[in-house]
Amino acid sequence: MDYLAERYLRPRKIPSTACSGCGLGQVHKKILLAVEQSGIGTDDLVWGTGIGCTGRQTFNTWKGDNFAGTHGRVYAMAVGLRAALPEEKKILLTVGDGDAFGIGLSHLLHCARRNVGVTVIAADNFGYQSTGGQYGYTTPQGFVTDSSPYGTREPGWLQDGADILDILKSAGATFLARHSSFEGQKAVDSIEKALDNKGFSLVHFIYPCVTHFGAVGLNSRDNGKIVRWFEELFSAKNRPGRGPHVTSGITHDARGSRPEFAAALRSRTREIREGRHVQA
Ligand code: SF4
Repeated sequence: MDYLAERYLRPRKIPSTACSGCGLGQVHKKILLAVEQSGIGTDDLVWGTGIGCTGRQTFNTWKGDNFAGTHGRVYAMAVGLRAALPEEKKILLTVGDGDAFGIGLSHLLHCARRNVGVTVIAADNFGYQSTGGQYGYTTPQGFVTDSSPYGTREPGWLQDGADILDILKSAGATFLARHSSFEGQKAVDSIEKALDNKGFSLVHFIYPCVTHFGAVGLNSRDNGKIVRWFEELFSAKNRPGRGPHVTSGITHDARGSRPEFAAALRSRTREIREGRHVQA
């Protein structure tokens, strides 16, 4: 067993049941590497999960405390926990692109607006893969999926001038980064910084689903071909035009620039209790 899995994960959840060749395991491992790098112990962090392949593969795997909220509701639960838990306890959420950029988007934006002290790892496989491969919010335009046999008509959140990370930045997020699941230390360092942020952080990981996006969208289950397609996606030559527009690295680092939600709430409550409050 991998030493990280042995140290941080529940033995009965190993090995993962993800399809062979899925990039999700690489994302999971990078989170554990960042946890180790940060010196975080299993009692120092509470791990929340959403639904879909990301939620399923990371659900209840953490040796410490876990919770789950499906269909974009994990953020609301995390806000309550953030207000209730001590400041030093970290809250990490692993969600898929539907939980992050579709059904959960409104909750996510409000977490960013309030600068809630949570670290969101949004693992994006370009669609609804756990339910059979339907297109979603980041599926590149024109791609064939089980629900778009003639190719998707709509642009995703990563093309036609849109970038979901810009929207989160405008909403108030204080740390944002994007990586592919193939990246190494650079991606681990981004997660470490996200965990270090007292406010709202999100790291967007794009990873290959070999079973649906690979087999149907790219017409191949060949891992080499799929990996090359993803490497090209992140390379400069794909940036212009209407195709998905992705760059790797930290896109926004404003750690410490805004008060964190629960800390501000506690401070305001203290002021009111002590009669020191000033009407806004
Ligand atoms: S369906 Fe796709 S995303 Fe889900 S576990 Fe299999 S390869 Fe990974």
